[in-house]
Amino acid sequence: MAEETIFSKIIRGEAPADILYQDELVTAFRDIRPQAPTHILIVPNRPIPTANDVTPEDEPALGRMFTVAAKLARQEGIADDGYRLLVNCGRHGGQEVYHLHMHLIGGRPLGPMLA
Ligand code: C5P
Repeated sequence: MAEETIFSKIIRGEAPADILYQDELVTAFRDIRPQAPTHILIVPNRPIPTANDVTPEDEPALGRMFTVAAKLARQEGIADDGYRLLVNCGRHGGQEVYHLHMHLIGGRPLGPMLA
């Protein structure tokens, strides 16, 4: 069992976060170091460490992450202009928190992906 991260505490309401959405499968909250006017993290409630660790049983939560992303993008007023959905995996992917999460980033032109 991987060590618990701060995200599990946020999901349980034991650590502070600006939570925008929560249901039985996923939780979404604002990133504390926003890279753009909208920067939201959408996380499965189950603490999946990385994209390497997803299993078929996670498919409902992974699908829900996309529907919540679309809902929040509309709510934030960035759906029409577009935005970026991003999942970092592991050391080379720049993953800092080992609880799988999707970044929803938008509100300004983001340009091409960095190398
Ligand atoms: O994908 P990666 O693991 O690099 O991203 C982790 C993200 O979690 C960072 O953008 C960081 O600002 C955010 N974070 C947060 N709240 C915390 C700890 C980290 O929003 N308490």
